[in-house]
Amino acid sequence: MFRITSACTGCGVCAAECPFEAIQEQTRTLYVINTQTCTDCGRCEEVCPEEAVAYEEIPMAQAVS
Ligand code: SF4
Ligand code: SF4
Repeated sequence: MFRITSACTGCGVCAAECPFEAIQEQTRTLYVINTQTCTDCGRCEEVCPEEAVAYEEIPMAQAVS
């Protein structure tokens, strides 16, 4: 799953580019990815100018639950 890190500057490029509208602006944490609607397409990681989108493997126990 993709996750936005603290390197995010809040530019909004990823949210504008996400084809599934899975990235929302948050008042305190800038932008977050909605894991319910994110399809792991990787577009946000490609377009982020700050390299603030990180990919993390989901632990097996969490993936099957
Ligand atoms: S493109 Fe990168 S820096 Fe811009 S809002 Fe998204 S995660 Fe943050
Ligand atoms: S990986 Fe794709 S679907 Fe998920 S938040 Fe990024 S652009 Fe949107």
